Amino acid sequence: MRRYDLHSHSTHSDGLLSPADLVRRAATRGVDVLALTDHDELSGLPEAVAQASESRVTLVRGAEVSVTWGQLTLHVLGLGIDPACPELCDGLDRIRAGRTERARRIGASLAQAGIADAYDGALRFVTSERLISRTHFARFLVETGYVRSMDDVFKRYLVRGKPGHVEHAWAALSDAIDWIHAAGGRAVLAHPGRYQVSKTGLRELLQEFRDAGGDGIEVLSPSHSRAQVTDFACHARGLGLLASCGSDYHGPGEGHMDLGDMPPLPAGITPVWHDW
Ligand code: AMP
Ligand code: MN
Ligand code: MN
Ligand code: MN
Repeated sequence: MRRYDLHSHSTHSDGLLSPADLVRRAATRGVDVLALTDHDELSGLPEAVAQASESRVTLVRGAEVSVTWGQLTLHVLGLGIDPACPELCDGLDRIRAGRTERARRIGASLAQAGIADAYDGALRFVTSERLISRTHFARFLVETGYVRSMDDVFKRYLVRGKPGHVEHAWAALSDAIDWIHAAGGRAVLAHPGRYQVSKTGLRELLQEFRDAGGDGIEVLSPSHSRAQVTDFACHARGLGLLASCGSDYHGPGEGHMDLGDMPPLPAGITPVWHDW
């Protein structure tokens, strides 16, 4: 059986490995099909594709698109996209442009809490001048000793109600799905178990996602407990959505799952790769 990992990050967004190193690691770990899904960014794909043919890995061109839905930030994976698609490129350009101004506001918010120069500090961890994210602030906060671990950062900082949180408007859900479709890709809701919504809110979200043309949901994710995996498999079946799996790998020493570490998808659901 082929081993799929359809969610990963490189230095072109907030990952720690270059696209080529990521693909090499995937190959070593027995991944047959890897999607590079950098946040709001496609620039790592050519390097990943080139290395994949050397490493006998099938590289799926992807991106993880930041979306605002009501009060929530959602992540929508585009899988199998054409990176030359103008609608998708323009949409992602606009999202990335908003990130810089947001990062300055994050810096100002941390300054108010007594943490000086966080914007410049985060910049030291940025690996692509095209993209700054909360992950870069988080690494700065760990390195300077404000917090012990990356897990702790997102409990005490950078999240709603805590220092370093700022409101921000990302793309609209239907726009993100439309761009992904314009680029010939499938739209997959990333780590649905991570969104802070009630049971009813979740149903509403999944319905609206599907009605807007969404193709699938990530069932297997390090963000999900075993119960959630079963639950989301059930949602996928009930709503006629495809199922995906991804480690959301960011690099050595970060996160709880390495490339390709997922168990098989639960039975009775259609994988997003069923016709690839
Ligand atoms: P941004 O897109 O700038 O809001 O940054 C989001 C990124 O922060 C995610 O893609 C993760 O890499 C990281 N992140 C968010 N929440 C957590 C968390 N609880 N633990 C670890 N990393 C997180
Ligand atoms: Mn990330
Ligand atoms: Mn995500
Ligand atoms: Mn991700």
